[in-house]
Amino acid sequence: MHWSGNLECDEGDQTMLIVMTHDATDSQIDAVEAAVQAMGLRAEPIPGSLRTAIGVLGNQGYVDDTTIRELPGVREVIHVSKPYKLVSRDFHPESTIVDVAGVKIGDGEHPVMMAGPCSIESEDQIFAAAEQVKAAGAGILRGGAFKPRTGPHSFQGLGLEGLELLRRAGAASGLPVVTEVMRIDQLDDVCRCADMVQIGARNMQNFDLLKEVGRIAKPVLLKRGMSATIEEFLSAAEYLLSEGNGQVVLCERGIRTFEKATRNTLDLSVVPLIREMSHLPIIVDPSHATGKRSLVPVMSRAALVAGAHGIMVEVHPDPDKALCDGAQSLSGDDFNKFMNETNHLIDFLKN
Ligand code: PEP
Ligand code: MN
Repeated sequence: MHWSGNLECDEGDQTMLIVMTHDATDSQIDAVEAAVQAMGLRAEPIPGSLRTAIGVLGNQGYVDDTTIRELPGVREVIHVSKPYKLVSRDFHPESTIVDVAGVKIGDGEHPVMMAGPCSIESEDQIFAAAEQVKAAGAGILRGGAFKPRTGPHSFQGLGLEGLELLRRAGAASGLPVVTEVMRIDQLDDVCRCADMVQIGARNMQNFDLLKEVGRIAKPVLLKRGMSATIEEFLSAAEYLLSEGNGQVVLCERGIRTFEKATRNTLDLSVVPLIREMSHLPIIVDPSHATGKRSLVPVMSRAALVAGAHGIMVEVHPDPDKALCDGAQSLSGDDFNKFMNETNHLIDFLKN
């Protein structure tokens, strides 16, 4: 195609290029221009020797192309802006640092270790876990009160009672806490008890929940959906940012593939890729990614080498008796050993 038009715009300003078919008529081109203008945008025709293209200018965000795409004479619509503009590095080149009650994630210093049980099961269990992970050097305590279990007969979590226990265990150990919210009507209680709100893999595309969580003043841990592409993952984060919440940490937790030997397939290449594409910090959860306790330490280290800003690991005081995800949970001793072995690597990576 021969471009003869002059399309001057600020970087990031041109949002779309509409390529017309070679036999598009003038009235079809006019109709496309009118449709663009009706959307409140500027249409800039770029006549070529074979076909005309129309640049679309004047919008800082992503433009929904559904009405344009169907118009007669339109061959192709090329998006210049990404659908996840606010989370992209093009828009915001400096890395975002997320502050979870004083613990900084993404500051390029120490990776943050989040650890704790899959589910809060009892006062004794969560207090013991908190003490163990704190002693080993974790920065944030995790624990689920509302559990998204695959089947209705599995332990569903302690709900409000669990939230309260987590809040108290966090306060007693001096660790900020992160826990999952599954529904909008749980959000007030979760915000009252937690320092960071987790959106789980199964809710990554619960858009109403994302919008609501985008309006709160708490940092968010957004886990990748188990079959979400990177574009879908970043677009989910875009919902949070577009509602005003920029304190978002992404979490790779493995994706569904044909492989059954591990619970999921840990897609570690997304760590450096997301670091290139987005300014948001990214952490890795090797517990849900592998489903196997023996793989958790080594895959955590692999994640750190790949550039993860932190790790989320399931730790239970007595994993064999865990009500949820015991097979992938480390004991307090295992976690302590893992941390001791990993601190050398962290020092090495910093230098
Ligand atoms: C969890 O972290 O408790 C959890 C349920 O993980 P995911 O949403 O990644 O499956
Ligand atoms: Mn779990």
